[in-house]
Amino acid sequence: MRSILDSDITYLPGVGPKRAKLFREELNINTYKDLLYYFPYRYIDRSKFYDIQDLDKDLPYIQIKGRFIQFELSSVGKGKKKLTGYFADNTGVVEIVWFQGINWIKDSVNTLNEYVLFGKPKSFGNKINIVHPDIEEYNKWQKQLANSLYPQYSTTEKTKQNYINSKVIQKLCDTLIKTVKSKIPETLPPYIREKYKLKGLEESLVQIHFPSGVTELNAAQYRIKFEELFYIQLNIQQIKSNRKQSTTGFIFDKSKDKLVKECFFKKIPFSLTGAQTRVLREIRQDLESGRQMNRLLQGDVGSGKTLVALLTMLIAVDNGYQTCIMAPTEILARQHFRSISKFLEGLDVTVNILTGSTKKKDRPKIHETLRSGELNILIGTHALIEDSVEFKNLGLVIIDEQHRFGVAQRAKLWEKNLSPPHILIMTATPIPRTLAMTLYGDLDVSVIDELPPGRTPIITKHFKDSNRLQVFGFMKKQIALGRQVYVVYPLISESENMDYKFLEDGVEGISRAFPIPEYQISVVHGRMKSADKEFSMKMFIDKNTQIMIATTVIEVGVDVPNATVMVIESAERFGLSQLHQLRGRVGRGSEQSYCILMTGDKLPENGYHRIMTMVNTNDGFEIAEADLKLRGPGDLEGKQQSGFAYDLKMANLSQDGQLIQYVKDIASNILDEDPNLDMDKNLVLKNELKEMNKNRVDYGQIS
Ligand code: ADP
Ligand code: MG
Repeated sequence: MRSILDSDITYLPGVGPKRAKLFREELNINTYKDLLYYFPYRYIDRSKFYDIQDLDKDLPYIQIKGRFIQFELSSVGKGKKKLTGYFADNTGVVEIVWFQGINWIKDSVNTLNEYVLFGKPKSFGNKINIVHPDIEEYNKWQKQLANSLYPQYSTTEKTKQNYINSKVIQKLCDTLIKTVKSKIPETLPPYIREKYKLKGLEESLVQIHFPSGVTELNAAQYRIKFEELFYIQLNIQQIKSNRKQSTTGFIFDKSKDKLVKECFFKKIPFSLTGAQTRVLREIRQDLESGRQMNRLLQGDVGSGKTLVALLTMLIAVDNGYQTCIMAPTEILARQHFRSISKFLEGLDVTVNILTGSTKKKDRPKIHETLRSGELNILIGTHALIEDSVEFKNLGLVIIDEQHRFGVAQRAKLWEKNLSPPHILIMTATPIPRTLAMTLYGDLDVSVIDELPPGRTPIITKHFKDSNRLQVFGFMKKQIALGRQVYVVYPLISESENMDYKFLEDGVEGISRAFPIPEYQISVVHGRMKSADKEFSMKMFIDKNTQIMIATTVIEVGVDVPNATVMVIESAERFGLSQLHQLRGRVGRGSEQSYCILMTGDKLPENGYHRIMTMVNTNDGFEIAEADLKLRGPGDLEGKQQSGFAYDLKMANLSQDGQLIQYVKDIASNILDEDPNLDMDKNLVLKNELKEMNKNRVDYGQIS
């Protein structure tokens, strides 16, 4: 049976087709339920009045009480009028301004009554004024004031032009709540509500729209947050435990170790870090367990994930399976191919590479050797998931920098086998713990939290464009020491509406400041043919060029230990995690490395914040946390690709970490007792999960 909550918003008294259209298009409110869950973004304490003398343009929405002493009508060009009211309390006078609805104000507002105004003070010239405040006669205001917390709903310019403001939404919520009263189905079973002291759903929703006090409001918000996070965890954990029960994995046996040992003892010139050893042990346990591995390997740039991947691949080969590694860009795939081939030189193992630019005539052989099982290791880009690529016995898939791959792409790899191969996903984007728990809660996580020894922390400095010569001077000094330099631009060509540095211009300027024959420059960007890109990269890797001018195509994985300077142009244009990725291109050798963030002379506030975060820390996790705070999880790069389909209305991933941990434990206790949620008391949970997953891809099967 459809619930009343599914009714189209058009039918709510006071809405109708025209408003419904605005609700749909502007606020994404389609049904009663959508409006019920359209929560106020804040509450104003309406028991508080500001003194007019204390008004300041930096104050948010505030409330004042007083009388109008005079009105003034003036013309502001082209037949437009402006009404100014002088509003006073016993501390001062402030100008109240209307550009619309002037006649209505003149007819209904007078200088006799006392009024309560609610609005945002702004500065106008050297005075403070308030434009189009909410206005209410004090007597009436007092009567309707059931409680002092007044909800504010966000609206858009367009809804406001059509007279749908916060107050209108509040009225509609009132109508709605009267309409649906005692028809809102409870979504948490009584035993859970009792045990964790949670209010009922209906009561909570009512409180959120019409709070009767701070304590009640907090309890209501807690209940909604709890529910949101709890169901996500329940879902993730159920998927995970189902998979563990039902999917068998290939068993890789330690006694078969051969290539692993040879590579380890003969080819790797250094010893593994403690973190690498620990992670390899975790991986090894998965591979021996008889269950299919689904592991996320997190590690900052340069922490040595690739080496872990290599040894894991050799375990698969030792056990007679094929393996592949999928990288997000051609450059990165080639880089992997080069370094992996080097580590495997002289060992009895075959490696090849397949990317979009692999020549047609070379493809049949690759396909053929894959099918016959002759080829052990295949490295590539998403060309690997083309239909024509078939493995004989794919035992392990490694996905590098996975946040760039779509869920559907991963699914395709999965389908390449009758039994699913073991999956190791590597990411250099440190994901804050809370986000990882929600995004990737169905994966096991290993973390490399230690850099190989001998690295000196990168020094990061901020320079403004006007100090460019200083930066060039510094680059010359480093080049004179035999080092190499990256210069990265946000854009290839000049863009009309953005005042950012672009690569073509940079190539010109840098060529002038660093002339041939003393200096050689490589250029790499996304519009080049891949053969040209490859050539340019190789020139830089082989130290034939000292400067590499590039766009963010070099963001991931490129490894040139002799490069010690990373100059990022228009750094304010980049997100934090991108800046951190770029910085990770240097500091890979033992020499002191530098990251120079160039920005315009004027910086927007959040741009400045990002730059300072970079200057102050090298810790990827700290940066990821800052990123989450600055941008909110909705914006995190790759959110969509990673399949984050949960729409949080109340909970906040960057603030509710503790609660996430709490509900995670609760969910897992419930599933321990009742893995399929078959008990009567858990019926509600089962139904809610079903509802929740109706419209989502089953990415638990995929990742
Ligand atoms: P990531 O993939 O995590 O960014 P890489 O695997 O590319 O890091 O490693 C970065 C560099 O550090 C490479 O040049 C690699 O050879 C080197 N490296 C990896 N592990 C170690 C180690 N244990 N000791 C010294 N150097 C290492
Ligand atoms: Mg890497």
